[in-house]
Amino acid sequence: MALAESPAFPAANRGPVRNDWTRDEVRALFGLPFPELMFEAARIHRMHFDPAEVQISTLLSIKTGGCPEDCAYCPQSAKYDTGIKAEKLMDLAAVLAEARAAKAAGASRFCMGAAWRSPKDRDVENVCAMVEGVKALGLETCATLGMLTPGQAQRLKRSGLDYYNHNLDTSPEFYGAIITTRAYQDRLDTLDAVRAAGMNVCCGGIVGMGEGAEDRIGMIAALASLPVHPESVPINMLVQVKGTPLAGGRALDPFDFVRTIAVARICMPKSVVRLSAGREDMSEETQALCFLAGANSIFYGPKLLTTPNPERDRDMRLLDKLGLRPMER
Ligand code: SF4
Repeated sequence: MALAESPAFPAANRGPVRNDWTRDEVRALFGLPFPELMFEAARIHRMHFDPAEVQISTLLSIKTGGCPEDCAYCPQSAKYDTGIKAEKLMDLAAVLAEARAAKAAGASRFCMGAAWRSPKDRDVENVCAMVEGVKALGLETCATLGMLTPGQAQRLKRSGLDYYNHNLDTSPEFYGAIITTRAYQDRLDTLDAVRAAGMNVCCGGIVGMGEGAEDRIGMIAALASLPVHPESVPINMLVQVKGTPLAGGRALDPFDFVRTIAVARICMPKSVVRLSAGREDMSEETQALCFLAGANSIFYGPKLLTTPNPERDRDMRLLDKLGLRPMER
């Protein structure tokens, strides 16, 4: 059934920010004919953003490997033999040198990722010094450090941290097949602490992990039902890394990935939706469909934590070909 005739979607329910999305509604969006879904996502994208603008972030791993968690997709878990060695936290000068290079390459936001279950308070102090230094360069800052206590979230906010990333990863039902060392509720608690501290939230998930269509529905419904939508919603395509439990699984059909982006755009109309990990293996045509579906952010730079990402020149050529330009801060 075309969207215009769908009793599940009166026009008044499409476009405004809502936090009461039901799974039935999200399922109906996924079930739309592809052109109808794309049209609706593009229409809603234009209500809140310039569709020619793409926000550009750079992600640096400031503390790599040796993580005690068991996220089945992650090469940095100490539980899997992926060839990634545990490293210490980078020093401040090295982080600032990377941030300067990211800024010179056109990034407006600098994200710092550390492979911790949860940081110790002294780790947080070190990261706060990095945040202050990166902000002084005129960049927005984001960090992903694992679970936070409310006090740690407040400390990071005081240092000037703009965004905190903590993903829900997948649906509540599929979550236990991917991670056993922390619960879905732990994630929600950290997101609450970040919100309460007054920081922007970056929160999304990963598809292509062997989940079913119902799990992609559940993931978007969970994100769109948060009390406040995340300002930034990264949608990742699994990068299969040898040595992790998810290596060798069946790849997701690219149209299912594009659909997930489109439904995220419709359900979280004011959020920046980031086409995140997995672009290295994605055709230019699939990436272009993602932009049509309302994705308006990418990670830029040769590496995403530890997995490859398209080279900067390749990205710039693609943005040029599509007539897209970096979003101003
Ligand atoms: S995703 Fe994060 S928490 Fe999970 S194993 Fe990797 S570094 Fe650790």
